Amino acid sequence: MSQPFDRVFLGDLVTTSGIIAGGYVAARGEVIAAIGQGAPPPAQETIDHSGSMIFPGLVDGHMHTSSAIGWAGIEGATKSAAAGGVTTCVDMPYDVPQPVTDADVLADKIGWVNRTAHVDVALYGTIRKTGGVGAIAGLAVAGISAFKLSTYEYDAVRFPRIDHPTMVAAFAEIAKTGLPVALHNEDQELVERLTAEARAAGKTDAIMHARTRPPLAESMADQEIFEIGLATGAHVHIAHSSIARGFTIAETFRAMGGQATGETCIQYLCMTEDDLVRLGGRGKCNPPFRTAGEVERVWECLLADKIAYVSTDHAPWPADRKVSPDIFENGAGLIGLQSFAPLMFTLLDERGLPPTMMATYCAERTTKLHGLWPKKGALRVGSDCDLLVMKRDDHRFDQATIVDRPELRWSPYHGRPMRARVVATVLRGRTIWDGANVLATPGSGRFVKRQTV
Ligand SMILES: [Zn+2]
Repeated sequence: MSQPFDRVFLGDLVTTSGIIAGGYVAARGEVIAAIGQGAPPPAQETIDHSGSMIFPGLVDGHMHTSSAIGWAGIEGATKSAAAGGVTTCVDMPYDVPQPVTDADVLADKIGWVNRTAHVDVALYGTIRKTGGVGAIAGLAVAGISAFKLSTYEYDAVRFPRIDHPTMVAAFAEIAKTGLPVALHNEDQELVERLTAEARAAGKTDAIMHARTRPPLAESMADQEIFEIGLATGAHVHIAHSSIARGFTIAETFRAMGGQATGETCIQYLCMTEDDLVRLGGRGKCNPPFRTAGEVERVWECLLADKIAYVSTDHAPWPADRKVSPDIFENGAGLIGLQSFAPLMFTLLDERGLPPTMMATYCAERTTKLHGLWPKKGALRVGSDCDLLVMKRDDHRFDQATIVDRPELRWSPYHGRPMRARVVATVLRGRTIWDGANVLATPGSGRFVKRQTV
């Protein structure tokens, strides 16, 4: 007789292909060993979530744990991830004081992840503004999941704009590694001129954030990055498109033989310019929220399967960096990790769309692009036993429930009606959130390297 399983989790399984009502996931050690329906097999421990939905643990393909306070930010962000059912974070490289520009810096960051993270973490790498192309191969060998470069400069060291000749050389080198390169896609000259004109005219109210970063700033950047991708053979990925046109442009370049993809962030599926006006600094992110009509067009792209995956762009700026009446003085970025699962579930449900789409676009697709599938992002035998357990429950999102440092307990979704709660999170077979408390500790999470090219 075969040995009983270590743990069996009971509930309605939500996979990319359907819902298995009255199902079970059985784990041996850290890995899924059996999946089925009906009477569960014998196990050392049975965890009964009957009546709740069990998804693959969500994978957030885009966040900035360390933009504000450096790698010390990993601990709180991943704790919030645990409370939000996000079991794998893919973290951006634009960290203070040192972005991840070579294998030595990466090794230091991996050390921080392994000592302080509450959930598993994959990492992006980048290059220095000048002279960094030579470090590309080493970063790929050391296990980053993707590269990130920018057409727009926030800071010459932390978040530089890469000029066109350097971008051509970098893409050619990245193409050899087989990894994708994601781009922050906004045209520098256009945004700088419009911003300078607005400031000179004394127009610094919230809506000016959207007016100074128009859709054209995005689509111009999209065109140039995909052109360079086509010329060099690199897989070029828009790190966040707030406009449907970004996905149409990607499709056009795919038709020409390019490897061109784009992701959207959950805010571009629900937030509008009216929300920017309502929220002020707390509604500032780049690219900005667009019109209600554009939100509908992005949904059309999602339903037409033109979007690679949906992420958060979680960028935890302290609350006091988001309250200036001069919109240009506020930090750009939203807090969104812990609201990700309830909000995505709710947005789909409000439109009569199945929750299976969350398993597709917030887990499986993300890990496929980042070379982590099927270890991560899948309810499959052999995958890590990472689970998100949600229960239908109408409530309003309360920012006070955010499990992170006190100055980060704010949310642009505060008060928004939600239709489900995260009642448990399981990381590699162990419950790390029980609906009230994070049971993971710093070091429960691990660096997860790219598995496949
Ligand atoms: Zn970002």
